[in-house]
Amino acid sequence: MKNYENNPQYLNVFDMSKRPGIRKEFSFKFHITDFLGTQMENIPPGEDVEFSIVLTSVSDGIYLSGTILVDLISKCSRCLEIQKRQLKLQPQAFYLYETVQNEENIDENLYSLTSGHYINLLEILRDSLFEKLEFNPICDPNCTNEFASTTISNEYEDGPFAKLLSLKEKL
Ligand SMILES: [Zn+2]
Repeated sequence: MKNYENNPQYLNVFDMSKRPGIRKEFSFKFHITDFLGTQMENIPPGEDVEFSIVLTSVSDGIYLSGTILVDLISKCSRCLEIQKRQLKLQPQAFYLYETVQNEENIDENLYSLTSGHYINLLEILRDSLFEKLEFNPICDPNCTNEFASTTISNEYEDGPFAKLLSLKEKL
């Protein structure tokens, strides 16, 4: 059997499970050992992630809310420069005492407690992170796009830069 007790990825909620009306606050740092995110935006393994969460027990499960602060490595999709950006995630999830069916899980932020009384922190981090990742991050709204303009300039003839380019030509 897997040992969840000594694994910081799992939060033990045994003492509030099935006892409605208990509210607990947790603040801690969690050391990431997995690569989370995409090629454009990710949390590299080894990063610390800061959790401040509130758990509230009700009759059929435990509500989780709060904030997770992460430092993302973000690659500008225009100039490919790599930057760090801090992201504040605000997860809201409901952990049912009964096992959640997969089809119910979609859009409802419903989860099952792992092994009956553990919250899987990596799972909630991963899910809240994916809602916030940008597909085409940019380092700055005015990024001059040096890399792309010298290599794939054709893409911009019809793009939002077409006007700017034609203005530039007139100067
Ligand atoms: Zn850029």
